[in-house]
Amino acid sequence: MSSPHDLPGWRHVYSGKVRDLYVPDTTPEGGVAERMLVVASDRVSAFDHVLSPGIPGKGELLTTLSLWWFDMLAGGDGGRGIPNHLVAAADLGLDDDARSRVPDAVAGRAMVVRSLEMAPIECVVRGYLTGSGWAEYQASGTVCGIGLPEGLGNGDRLPEPIYTPAYKAPVGEHDENIAYERTVELVGAERAAQLRDLSLEIYRRAAALAEKRGLILADTKFEFGVDEEGVLRLADEVLTSDSSRYWDAQAWNAGGTPEQRMASFDKQIVRDWLGAHWDRTGEPPALPADIIDRTSARYRELLTRLTGA
Ligand code: ATP
Ligand code: MG
Repeated sequence: MSSPHDLPGWRHVYSGKVRDLYVPDTTPEGGVAERMLVVASDRVSAFDHVLSPGIPGKGELLTTLSLWWFDMLAGGDGGRGIPNHLVAAADLGLDDDARSRVPDAVAGRAMVVRSLEMAPIECVVRGYLTGSGWAEYQASGTVCGIGLPEGLGNGDRLPEPIYTPAYKAPVGEHDENIAYERTVELVGAERAAQLRDLSLEIYRRAAALAEKRGLILADTKFEFGVDEEGVLRLADEVLTSDSSRYWDAQAWNAGGTPEQRMASFDKQIVRDWLGAHWDRTGEPPALPADIIDRTSARYRELLTRLTGA
């Protein structure tokens, strides 16, 4: 695969829809790296397509949000420290090797992380009913097989946050919602319970913090991996506008139509525009400038509200 950037000290190994992964250039071809560079691009995806053009500043926003949340969850919010995959800034300061630092060319939108053995599970937590959960609930009264009370509407708060894991499909395939019992088969009873309990704990902490900033964390997805010492660490991106649905609490409380209640800070603006201008066949049309500007402004507002930056 050719490298989208030449980054000194690093070799490009993989590009997902949004992020590019690199390993130290000293890693043997096909060998195992102990650290990785995760670079968030400005690419935006919806309905499994990468759209064009990108959203200027999106990669930096995703990275800033992830770093801020990793810090909060490491104890910055007063809670217990949740281990994560970041290679500590202190380590980086001591080690002036190019392979341990974020290259200048991608400063602000990249993280140096420990390369972990990832659990093949997307740990989804939902505190509110919407999206695919709402679709399933209308059909069967359940979300990912979990029975819910009757009479809930789109955007309603669930009685309790629920854990609805998905199997992380190999590249190119769709992630698939699975029952908790299936996660036990995949990773064993102990690890499965640990993933579930940690996910619910992190969701609760994050939702409480967001609430203080006038935001509802409707749902989110975590990924975890194990390091060489066997420590389970929070990995990937965390609580970003790509992995989570954030809504404006004031709008939600005011009620009204589902659209008014779920005034979102993610790519819903993009999804809505595409839904109205594309029949989902062939390549999606280019996004107009005002859709890009509105999305970009919404992203910046989320960051400002949460972090005060
Ligand atoms: P998609 O485009 O659907 O998001 P993707 O999830 O494969 O595909 P990215 O999210 O861009 O693409 O890539 C990030 C990849 O890196 C994921 O597969 C994720 O599981 C993996 N990953 C994240 N953190 C770590 C880590 N610390 N160690 C190893 N792999 C990691
Ligand atoms: Mg991903």
